[in-house]
Amino acid sequence: MMTAPIYNFSAGPAVLPESVLRTAQSEMFDYNGTGFSVMTMSHRSDVFASILYHAEQDLRQLMGIPDNYKVLFLQGGASAQFNQVVMNFAGGFRRVDSVVTGNWSKIAHSQMGKLSDCTIHLAADGGRDYAYTDLPPVESWDIGRDSAFVHFVINETVHGLQYGEVPKLGADMPPLVCDMSSEILSRRINVADFGVIYAGAQKNIGPSGATIVIIREDLLDRCSDRIPDVWNYRSHVQKQGMYNTPATYPIYIAGLVFRWLQSQGGVRQMETVNTLKAKTLYEAIDSSGGFYRNPVRPDARSKMNVIFSTGNADLDERFAQESTTRGLQLLRGYKSLGGMRASIYNAMPLQGVEALIDFMAEFQRRYG
Ligand SMILES: *Cc1c(COP(=O)(O)O)cnc(C)c1O
Repeated sequence: MMTAPIYNFSAGPAVLPESVLRTAQSEMFDYNGTGFSVMTMSHRSDVFASILYHAEQDLRQLMGIPDNYKVLFLQGGASAQFNQVVMNFAGGFRRVDSVVTGNWSKIAHSQMGKLSDCTIHLAADGGRDYAYTDLPPVESWDIGRDSAFVHFVINETVHGLQYGEVPKLGADMPPLVCDMSSEILSRRINVADFGVIYAGAQKNIGPSGATIVIIREDLLDRCSDRIPDVWNYRSHVQKQGMYNTPATYPIYIAGLVFRWLQSQGGVRQMETVNTLKAKTLYEAIDSSGGFYRNPVRPDARSKMNVIFSTGNADLDERFAQESTTRGLQLLRGYKSLGGMRASIYNAMPLQGVEALIDFMAEFQRRYG
């Protein structure tokens, strides 16, 4: 029996490539002839060490991570990084610069100062200046040369904003610390432009539970011995990611996703497809004669999280419900924003976006 495909537009935990889930299924009880599931084997075993090693190597290949950057798979999600970066990199500094551009950077801003003597300086405020419908250009960020680092979120998952051109600071400026959770591996970036990149896995990489942290080596000199080892990046690096039990199963799935990305043509090919998906969807919104709206200035629109609404909360709710019956899942917008949100990460095929657009047109014919 043929069943219509189901497309999952969840913002996270989010869609994964079907082939990855099938591989995980086939290896569930017996990984590679070991007789064990990855879920039940020791993180100290040679088999898991190999899984971790290859996951890191494949990520390095995909992102072009230079040799002077360390890669960690930690736990605690992206939210833990809001504080961990301060704990590790702001010791001896009096100021951290924080760029607020939407929901996640606002939360980061509210948390970073806790347990720290640093002033968390609001270097730009996209809420005040643009009501989160545009992004403060990097030239407008108020940055102190003596800051420990500059924190920003490159893709705002809730407000549907993304820096189209990747912000860059001069060599004499503090390092950039970037929350890349909802766009990592979706387009080519130059890792060397950043001091630190971190990302929770559950948006564009794998299941929740693993957090990728990519750190320029020299910054590890800032990590004080007074930081408890479990929060100390240097301890994790020294123990090759095995200071304590890592999130073994999420790392295994992430490794499968990295191999899938390589088989698809890597980040370059993802970028091409993601650009086409986003362009197609925004064009459908913009050509609906005002029935569907997206409030974001075109240059700042996210290619990963596309928000839209009819301007009528009841109609939006009807859209969310009816779309579900057509196999278009989890389109309801973020709780405080309302409306709809289509998250179209790497694993969402163009056909999923086309199915959504077909439904949008039909819905408009009925209710427009
Ligand atoms: C989802 C998300 C977070 C929060 O991630 P957790 O893993 O739940 O802590 C932080 N930043 C961004 C940009 C996100 O999309």
